[in-house]
Amino acid sequence: MSAEPPEPDFGVTLNAQDRAFYDEVREFLATALTDEIRGGGHDRLQRMRLWQSRLHNAGLAAISWPAQFGGRAATPVQQLVFNAEMAAARAPEPINRSAINQLGPTIIQWGTDEQRAYYLPRILSADDVWCQGFSEPDAGSDLAALRTKAVIDGDELVITGQKVWTSKAQYADRIYLLARTDPSAPPRDGISYILADLDTPGIEVRPVRQITGDAEFNEVYFDGARVPLVNVLGPLHGGWRVAKSTLGYERVGQSRTHRIERRLDILIGMAKQPNALTDKGLADEYLADHLVRFAAQVEALRQIAAQATAAGVRGMSPGPEASVAKLLTSEVDQAMAGFGLDLAGPAGILEPGSPGAAKKGNVAQSYLLMRAATFGAGTSEIQRNVIGERLLGLPRDP
Ligand SMILES: Cc1cc2nc3c(=O)[nH]c(=O)nc-3n(C[C@H](O)[C@H](O)[C@H](O)COP(=O)(O)OP(=O)(O)OC[C@H]3O[C@@H](n4cnc5c(N)ncnc54)[C@H](O)[C@@H]3O)c2cc1C
Repeated sequence: MSAEPPEPDFGVTLNAQDRAFYDEVREFLATALTDEIRGGGHDRLQRMRLWQSRLHNAGLAAISWPAQFGGRAATPVQQLVFNAEMAAARAPEPINRSAINQLGPTIIQWGTDEQRAYYLPRILSADDVWCQGFSEPDAGSDLAALRTKAVIDGDELVITGQKVWTSKAQYADRIYLLARTDPSAPPRDGISYILADLDTPGIEVRPVRQITGDAEFNEVYFDGARVPLVNVLGPLHGGWRVAKSTLGYERVGQSRTHRIERRLDILIGMAKQPNALTDKGLADEYLADHLVRFAAQVEALRQIAAQATAAGVRGMSPGPEASVAKLLTSEVDQAMAGFGLDLAGPAGILEPGSPGAAKKGNVAQSYLLMRAATFGAGTSEIQRNVIGERLLGLPRDP
């Protein structure tokens, strides 16, 4: 007699549909998450592409999207189940994760029927991999200071300017960017949100090398690049509100706990072995104290992330709860990467680290990579401003 699998502990009771969904996800992972996806054979990008196509074929690429756009309209509980199972299985990210989490919902919210019909299926299938062109050399936290301009010329926009820190532009097919279309308007009123093909003549991508040795960011230069006017997403000159939707979705995406759960596993594994802290004579209790604190934080973040996700599922632009999730997740992640280096000791710093090694658990590379966590998707200070002003009702940052 085969035993019924134990009821999983997600901190919520699963109804019959949730349980059926859970079974479906488990079955999918058991068959689709093969060694080929986990690491063998292909390079990382190929694996991420293949993984996304498997998710897509199983109808699991964008479970939070409404069904009419290729999603599942997953309930908050189903999203919790999905994220927990993906994390527990140590499943990789799909190649178009940021487009699935950020751009897709923004197109659903703001796009025309034609834009939705054209772009959304291509995001799901990863026919189009997207990157985000918001930040500029003098416009990061103060994004409204952006200077890239797009001049209307007949039924085209002519774009000139520079973006920086554009993750994934080195292999993306398209870019969603902000440009100033009405220079006479106040800064936030004269911006448009534009969808562009990266091989448009006049667009050039130059990789930027990081302290890890990887080049995951880029500068993107626009020199008179011509893009059809119909590629504006949302109102012409009204792109600021559209961008705010994307940024809200981005914070929710950043708050997913996959990465910190994986890091916690790595730390526990290291703590069980002889390590630099026990070599220094520090008692096991010292290690346990840290690990229990991290484990509690990871659990709390799982719950906060679920709430932030739930806001998105209810069709609302994620609110300030997304800032809480993003702030805490990035800071816990950074603290854990620091503890990993403490456990490894000087040997950890000397550990040979090829570019990309952080993703395989190399502690020195992880430590370096994680310096960026409190910057990307809005710095910790900016998240604190949002929380202070919008959750706590404190006076606005001038
Ligand atoms: C991993 C990573 C990936 C990224 N990917 C992309 C991408 O794909 N596309 C893209 O467009 N951008 C991307 N960025 C850029 C990111 O959005 C910016 O780094 C971020 O918005 C901060 O801008 P900045 O770097 O210009 O720093 P600045 O805004 O110059 O900030 C410098 C310091 O001043 C502080 N500060 C600034 N303003 C305030 C304030 N009002 N109150 C208190 N403190 C303040 C900041 O917190 C920070 O400590 C990425 C960045 C990272 C680290």
